[in-house]
Amino acid sequence: MGKGMICVGAIAGAFGTAGEIRLKSFCANPADIGTYGPLYSEDGAETYDITVGPAVKGGFAARIKGVHDRTRAEMLRGTRLYVVRDTLPGLPDDTFYISDMIGLTVFDTGGAMLGRIRAVQDYGAGNILEVQRKGAGDLLLPFTTEVIPTVDLDAGRVVANPPEGVIQAMKLPDRPSRAQPAGQPCTTGLTFSTLPHRGATMTDGPKSRKPGHITGQAAGPPLADVWAVRVITLFPDAFPGTLGLSLTGKALSDGLWQLHTTDLRRFGRGRHRSVDDRPAGGGAGMILRPDVVAAALEQVATPFPRRVWPVVCLSPRGRPFTQATARRWAQGRGLTLLCGRFEGVDERVLQDCQVEEVSLGDFVLTGGEIAAQALIDATVRLIPHVLGKHESTEEESFSNGLLEYPQYTRPGIWNGRAIPEVLLSGHHARIADWRTNQAKRLTRERRPDLWRAHTRTNPEEDQER
Ligand code: SAH
Repeated sequence: MGKGMICVGAIAGAFGTAGEIRLKSFCANPADIGTYGPLYSEDGAETYDITVGPAVKGGFAARIKGVHDRTRAEMLRGTRLYVVRDTLPGLPDDTFYISDMIGLTVFDTGGAMLGRIRAVQDYGAGNILEVQRKGAGDLLLPFTTEVIPTVDLDAGRVVANPPEGVIQAMKLPDRPSRAQPAGQPCTTGLTFSTLPHRGATMTDGPKSRKPGHITGQAAGPPLADVWAVRVITLFPDAFPGTLGLSLTGKALSDGLWQLHTTDLRRFGRGRHRSVDDRPAGGGAGMILRPDVVAAALEQVATPFPRRVWPVVCLSPRGRPFTQATARRWAQGRGLTLLCGRFEGVDERVLQDCQVEEVSLGDFVLTGGEIAAQALIDATVRLIPHVLGKHESTEEESFSNGLLEYPQYTRPGIWNGRAIPEVLLSGHHARIADWRTNQAKRLTRERRPDLWRAHTRTNPEEDQER
């Protein structure tokens, strides 16, 4: 790879029959790949004049000048597409191209060398520097003005001022990361993301902090047009969890949505960063303190009104989460979730910060993290292009107020049980009828509450059996 070349995308194969390709973008804002003019092969020898079309599953449909048939398009599968670093647009003072950050040497404020930036971690929001140390484990440092007061690209150095405890706390977790391995700075989607360095220019000193208020990972401004979720939790390691797998995981790395976690512990008070205290009026367990929670909420605040960016505390006492909630949230700009632990959260901060309480169901979990993942999953799959076929969210349970009908697949006879004949009849109207009737039957039997709501809007079905 030529020095100064940055990989911004790849050709994922032919798309359709007329020579179009499926284009995978590695840019922070995927559509940006169409804005850099011609793209180059790794060695710079080939030029690709690409017109980017609509977003499709796995990227964009795109056309390459001179490619007119499927065979030719398919031959380009796997081709990585590059831009010349120096032709990239300039960035605001406090924002960097991730590829420029990789390889910089990290010093502490006393001038001692800590290591080298080998990657920028992005569990959804791209704000953690992964620093490789000689003879010691990797360090993860939040990319904020407090922790990284100075970035000097010309000198190839960064000054780090990790808050006490962070070195231990931020040790590289034992999990597969989507970081970029050293030496192959162009292999993942992170290469080309830009890195907001919140609230300061490159050479600013650390900003003053409120006492007891350690700002760790800055959430940074939400990227335009990408649905984003910000999770406040005592267990950031629980994320992305299952959200990092399969369709939601792929959509996350494709930039269709963003996930940002904030460790509530960072806002804790005193030497032990304590976040909770005993319940007023007595009783078992501990309650999360309002001042601690408010500080975290303030840190992840967005400019959007609650209507399009709800701020939600997971709680068994909350309004039940339903498919309708997921639909409403998916249509907004994003969501902030506060995961409770212990006995819950001081009531005053919920009122003061207009936090609504939402419940996953009528049972009690030990913490809000699993509930948060369930809510995020249900919401993210409704974001356009996250699921393959759009129909798949239209006919499923709850979408029309009924449970889904039973489903079958091959083999035709299994363990002596046959697939209902009508499904094999090829008669679409009869199949649709059968499915509707089954959906009604199941709803009536299993969910009288849903059935009552259904018959309220369709009174003629009340007598049906
Ligand atoms: N004392 C509380 C239960 C606390 S459980 C009560 O009786 O209502 C601890 C945390 O787990 C809660 O603060 C909440 O964030 C989370 N949690 C537990 N059950 C939940 C549910 N059904 N839905 C959403 N969050 C839940």
